[in-house]
Amino acid sequence: MKIAICPGSFDPVTKGHIDILERSCKLFDKVYVVVMINPNKTPTFSTAERVELIKKVTKHIHNLEVESYLGLVADYAKEKNAHTIIKGLRAVTDFEYEFQQALANKKLKSDLETLFMVTNQEYMYLSSTVVREIATFGGDIEQFVPVEIKDEIMNRIYKKER
Ligand code: ADP
Repeated sequence: MKIAICPGSFDPVTKGHIDILERSCKLFDKVYVVVMINPNKTPTFSTAERVELIKKVTKHIHNLEVESYLGLVADYAKEKNAHTIIKGLRAVTDFEYEFQQALANKKLKSDLETLFMVTNQEYMYLSSTVVREIATFGGDIEQFVPVEIKDEIMNRIYKKER
């Protein structure tokens, strides 16, 4: 069975993430999307909220499981018996950071491969930060996140900022 993991902060999940997850699930038998908990960062959405938002918008993907993890990506991969990390690449700016991470993960676990999946050009500009910034000022985020989670995101961010 070919197993892959898609780690990230997903604060919150966007259409860009979902596109990468859907495409990953066509290539692997099982994909774990994992909300990585970083104790040095304060996310806008709690870990549980981020996991729930991803679950809500990926119900149609049957070989996908959503989890959270406090620790190293390499250790999570080991726990799941996964040998592949899939990362989405938007632009050259993503590359430098991702390249460094990929090499570090390879040092930690030599049989762990990182695959870069090129973004759908429709979502090239899209990040969780863009969504949060637009939501902060009451802009329409419907183009960026699935409609079923739009209100939940707006209620959390827009109201809080006012
Ligand atoms: P961000 O906060 O930058 O959106 P995350 O850590 O939540 O990033 O992202 C998890 C993974 O999804 C990363 O591999 C990231 O490069 C990828 N990703 C995020 N947005 C997009 C997008 N619009 N297109 C392709 N990949 C993306």
